[in-house]
Amino acid sequence: TVYSRIAIVTGANKGIGLAIVRNLALQYPKSSLNSGPLLIYLTARSSVRGEEAVKTLLIDPQLKAAKALKQDGGLTTITFHGLDITDENDISSLKNLIKKEHPDGIDILVNNAGIFMMDINIVKTVLRTNYSGTLAMTTEFLPLIRPEGRLVNVASSDGQLIPYSESLKQTFIDASKTSIEACTTLMERFTADVLTEREKPEGWPSAEYAYAVSKAGVIASTKVIAMEAEKNEGKVLINACCPGFVNTDMTRGHGHMTVDEGANTPVLLALGDIEGTTGGFWKDGAVIEW
Ligand code: NDP
Repeated sequence: TVYSRIAIVTGANKGIGLAIVRNLALQYPKSSLNSGPLLIYLTARSSVRGEEAVKTLLIDPQLKAAKALKQDGGLTTITFHGLDITDENDISSLKNLIKKEHPDGIDILVNNAGIFMMDINIVKTVLRTNYSGTLAMTTEFLPLIRPEGRLVNVASSDGQLIPYSESLKQTFIDASKTSIEACTTLMERFTADVLTEREKPEGWPSAEYAYAVSKAGVIASTKVIAMEAEKNEGKVLINACCPGFVNTDMTRGHGHMTVDEGANTPVLLALGDIEGTTGGFWKDGAVIEW
């Protein structure tokens, strides 16, 4: 098959990521991006969990009823590829595969993979996954995204700037208008302040807040990348979003939205008419204040 559109979703073996893949397949045919067959790379760090997830989609009743998948006469093919976003080798091997198989580029990247932990000792792990992993995927794959394509970073409303001191808040906003280096420096500053137990006087909400800080970093770096892409007259729309409070393994039964509801905003940013918006932070289908 010659695919006219290519999409990649990270952390897609379960939760919101898996729902994003389902809903891309469901909504692609009536989207303005539809120009023929779509190939979605469902990526996950475990090949067992990833392959299993693809199997569940192949027998998904809603996808069947909609005849969304190629096996049922539809437009979409879903294929698994292993990807741990903290592993440089994984990122470069996927990139090489994409360049070889799809030399004209890709259309959609949804950086959904993330971890949540409330533990001072894993500050570095959380930042390495949510901030650095997402950033590495963004910088490596953005050059492969064709004009009119989309880049979606799943952040969180926990990444909003409300709980920070005024001066830190301003530092975040300044970083988001300056450079990736400025954003990364802020993440390193948080880590250093936690390690020296200075996070409170330095204006951070708390040491357990690594998740929130990592997501603030995702929003900041998404804004920088969107700004730089616009300067280079890139036509790719680059946005960050909060999926809402969704019932997944991450929220351990507390989230009140279904995974399909959680996929709504990411899928809108990937396929929908967003009137050319780039560099926005979205929730519930609209741009909200950071
Ligand atoms: P889940 O814990 O259900 O799923 C997270 C996914 O990310 C899993 O597939 C997991 O894989 C994957 N993942 C974790 N680390 C890596 C890694 N290093 N490389 C590749 N994949 C990885 O969480 P959700 O579906 O709830 O969350 C999805 C995204 O939405 C996250 O970014 C989260 O922060 C964000 N979010 C979620 C909210 C909610 O209410 N649920 C609220 C706000 C934001 P594995 O199965 O191998 O662990």
